[in-house]
Amino acid sequence: QSPLGSFLSGVRQRYPFIQLAGHKGDFISGQGGIIYKKSSVLEKAALESLMSDVLKPMVPLYFKAVQIEDSQGSKAEYLEMQDLLGNFTDPSVMDIKLGVRTFLESEVIKTTRRPDLLQKMMKLDPDEPTEEEKEHGITKLRYMMFRERLSSTNTLGLRVEAVKKAHEPPRNDFQRVKLRSEVFRVIESFFPPRDTEPELHDRVKRRILDRLEAMRDKLPVSSFFKCHELIGSSLLFIYDSTGKAGVWMIDFGKTSRVDKEIHHDLPWKLGSQEDGYLIGLDNIITMIGDC
Ligand code: ATP
Ligand code: MG
Ligand code: MG
Repeated sequence: QSPLGSFLSGVRQRYPFIQLAGHKGDFISGQGGIIYKKSSVLEKAALESLMSDVLKPMVPLYFKAVQIEDSQGSKAEYLEMQDLLGNFTDPSVMDIKLGVRTFLESEVIKTTRRPDLLQKMMKLDPDEPTEEEKEHGITKLRYMMFRERLSSTNTLGLRVEAVKKAHEPPRNDFQRVKLRSEVFRVIESFFPPRDTEPELHDRVKRRILDRLEAMRDKLPVSSFFKCHELIGSSLLFIYDSTGKAGVWMIDFGKTSRVDKEIHHDLPWKLGSQEDGYLIGLDNIITMIGDC
């Protein structure tokens, strides 16, 4: 029995909700193509302003914030939005995180040296820390930058978070997928196989590329995009065996308004607030084109 069982009692879903990333408790699937995501200040503000921006067709429709009470009687705010899986049957789903950086500058401004982060780094690569760092520990910035170098985030401006193919269990073991050729193989394997299902392959790829190109055209003229840094935001790719396919921008939990204009196609330097969103988008468009 879920803690939100009372809220959901009598509600039956036609199809199961597939959640690839994030904390399991943060989503509740509703009825009629609606889901609820645990609210945060940044994501609520972002979705609100996206509903009156040219990017509206590229994101899940956002309806409102609602208070939901669990069985213990404590209330939390959730964001009611469109369930993008709603129109699909047994979908294949892929979450790709865009951008050359996945942490906020505000998360890494502390210069405290942390022995716990040194230990985590040593576990991943005992030769990474210098002798001086082994003695004094490492900052959060050093740790985050090290982690991002393991994946394709810095180099390609994107990383594969998770993939769920129809009738297969989800996979999220892509932390060390870094080379362009490795990323390409994962992306290629998400699409219907060209040799056994050539028509479906072409149809799905064409629809997805059309959507990505429409997105690429809208982003530079979006007033939302001009004044927000998009950190940890994903593209959610969905298709099913009927050839229905789409891709949407999701996850604005670390998307925030900034005072200056962001270019989105530059590498990041501490203080620049650049996110490299378009670097990742351009790379994904090229890679899918080559699939
Ligand atoms: P994290 O920050 O760890 O990436 P999060 O808690 O911010 O996670 P999201 O990334 O927004 O959560 O979503 C997690 C997963 O839930 C996505 O990978 C996707 O599978 C699913 N999901 C999110 N939003 C939607 C939506 N509107 N429709 C359908 N599925 C969704
Ligand atoms: Mg996410
Ligand atoms: Mg998030």
